Amino acid sequence: MHDQNDLYEQILFENLGADSLLKNASLIASGSHNQGIRLDTPADSFFLKINFEHERDILKKEAEGLDLLRANTFLQVPEVFGFGRIGDYNYLLMEFIQQRRQNPNYWENLGIGLAHLHLTQEQQFGLEKDNFIASLQQRNIHTDNWLDFFIEFRLEPLIGKAYFDRLIPLDFLKKFQEIYPRLQGIFPEEKPALLHGDLWSGNVVCNAEGQPALIDPAVYFGHREMDLAFSRLFGGFDQEFYDAYESAFPLEPEFESRMGIYNLYPLLVHLNLFGSAYLPGIERIVKRFEN
Ligand code: ADP
Repeated sequence: MHDQNDLYEQILFENLGADSLLKNASLIASGSHNQGIRLDTPADSFFLKINFEHERDILKKEAEGLDLLRANTFLQVPEVFGFGRIGDYNYLLMEFIQQRRQNPNYWENLGIGLAHLHLTQEQQFGLEKDNFIASLQQRNIHTDNWLDFFIEFRLEPLIGKAYFDRLIPLDFLKKFQEIYPRLQGIFPEEKPALLHGDLWSGNVVCNAEGQPALIDPAVYFGHREMDLAFSRLFGGFDQEFYDAYESAFPLEPEFESRMGIYNLYPLLVHLNLFGSAYLPGIERIVKRFEN
């Protein structure tokens, strides 16, 4: 533990200067590829993410994603104080979000906040650079058309990886790819909107003011229905959130009928990261679009 504290002190010193002495460090999240540590100094608290990925710049991309989100939303997004590599560790040092009980207008503000974020729009889908969703690479090549972008840079890389890693057989790969032509015309035409990109309930935390704060994004300019579909996949968002979003930036009719298709992407992410327990959910959606 002594060694770890030396590392944390060095990170604080390099990013915040000599005033920030470590008073306490506690592990608060331990995932498959990251650890989350709360660092307390006499004046402040910080959230430190570390991982041991040697060749990949996941935490740098997360820092860039947080910066892009923060520049385009009134919701809290943790300030980034620094990122880099020390010894065997990659790290990302950010503002610590003190978590409190939700204010009565928490969900309403999240709905309005997401609608407002989605009003940050560009001409093309994608982003200047690739990034990651969890530990999986996310390709962001600029594309004019949502369907092309979605198939080529969201579905294909992950269904291909699942096949390569023997998570699915060849006949399911083929079945999956056969639905692509049937997706023609199902997405309403909309401007590419800035997305959080990994919007499940674990990535929205309640801050000290009882208001929502956004963490752990996988940003890009995409169809805004992606964020809304993802938020429905594992539950956890209150109806007030959807009502507030709808009043601020109404969705096109029949969103529900398209939701499964958007959610093929997060389900493929889960299939690749956590295994075949997520396959039946994908098979059910594909079945609906066969023939
Ligand atoms: P991972 O990239 O490993 O999924 P997350 O960014 O989702 O990690 O963080 C894991 C957990 O750590 C979150 O669910 C949240 O409870 C906590 N956490 C993340 N960021 C902060 C922060 N800036 N301040 C306080 N707690 C945080």
